[in-house]
Amino acid sequence: MSHSKSPISLNIIIVGAGLGGLSAAITLCLAGHHVTVLERATTIGEIGAGIQILPNASRLLISWGLAPSLMQHATLPKQVNMISWKGEHIASMDFHEAAKRYGSPFWDFHRAGLHKCLLERAVELGARVVCQARVMDVEIGGDKSTVVLEDGSKIYADLVVGADGVASRMREVLMGGVDPPMRTGDLAYRVLLSTEEMKKDPELKGFVEDPQVNYWLGPDCHAVNYVLKGGKQFNMVLLVPDDIPDGGATTVEGNVEEMRALYKDWDPRIPKLLSLCTQVHKWKLLIRHPPEHWYHPSGTFVLLGDSAHATLPYLASGAGMALEDAAVLGECLGRIRSREDVLTALAVYEVCRKERTARVVERGNVQQELYHLHDGEEQRERDRKMRMFPTEAGE
Ligand code: FAD
Repeated sequence: MSHSKSPISLNIIIVGAGLGGLSAAITLCLAGHHVTVLERATTIGEIGAGIQILPNASRLLISWGLAPSLMQHATLPKQVNMISWKGEHIASMDFHEAAKRYGSPFWDFHRAGLHKCLLERAVELGARVVCQARVMDVEIGGDKSTVVLEDGSKIYADLVVGADGVASRMREVLMGGVDPPMRTGDLAYRVLLSTEEMKKDPELKGFVEDPQVNYWLGPDCHAVNYVLKGGKQFNMVLLVPDDIPDGGATTVEGNVEEMRALYKDWDPRIPKLLSLCTQVHKWKLLIRHPPEHWYHPSGTFVLLGDSAHATLPYLASGAGMALEDAAVLGECLGRIRSREDVLTALAVYEVCRKERTARVVERGNVQQELYHLHDGEEQRERDRKMRMFPTEAGE
């Protein structure tokens, strides 16, 4: 995949060095622009646990020159299995066959590994990444936007890209007022296990030796797991009804006993895995529908990633959508021949991205209902359909 390169260089500020912001740093450097990324955290890195990267996104990462570094961090799962909460196999999809069809692999990463590769590539291409730089506001006016930092200092840019995640201040700047994300009714427990103990248990060691992605579907909850770091770590995500009070912190320490109680009657392998967990955090799951407009009519401000369209993680596609945004924005801004073209480039970016990301946000909500059905006719119908049409993740 070749990248368009503009003969003029814009000074671009990206707010947020998450997976979306760093991807945009790569594509905008490849498009010939000067890029500065401002990140509020003291160090650049990703907390959290595992992440699945589907072929639509792995194709982009490869095209940005990341394959050699990513291969040091990636696990290639053989297949995805859908399993009932009581342990009955429902359906599987062979990832290797699907990867041949899509022309790009399914990868699982520890987020820190993926993030490190993106950061290194962005810096290699010339992006300047600044930590401890919390953006409080953006003054949009004329042919420039001015970023206002926490210490009151101001930086001018031809274009500001708001990539500050689901709790986005940049979206409020664009919308001109308070615009909180929507609650979904679910939260995620994220568990990372060392595989040493698992390998000693005949019932669990298969999970480590044979990398597969497993989904257990049950009433009001589901569970997902897969190995990371070539089998050194085991990632579990447990999706359950949200009990984190609204309006406060969205990531809080969880209680291991409470988490285990929710899964005590499930496939015995799940309680067994959870017995190996000693501490856990829980994440409130919030979404955002794409806004009517993604850019300011001045052509100096635009949104990207979760700030525009955070989705439930039930299609494993939120980061994939942010990477696609970055690819399209880079391509559009690589084709400009003068400053006057920027507005058209942003309009094309919005048109290319809005419908697809809206569909993914909606499909995530549908998936929430399907994955959490109670035993009964609807659930049997779901399983029957899954057997006919194995889940084509990432479509
Ligand atoms: P973020 O990753 O949130 O990054 C935003 C960055 O902006 C952060 O570094 C933040 O510190 C910084 N920031 C915020 N405010 C400011 C400010 N004012 N000034 C400066 N910096 C600021 N997606 C997948 O594709 N596959 C998966 O398997 C998957 N699993 C998931 C599992 C869970 C439990 C969850 C919750 C999400 C999952 N996702 C998955 C979704 C994915 O994590 C997100 O879609 C993706 O991280 C969004 O990237 P982003 O860069 O837009 O936002």
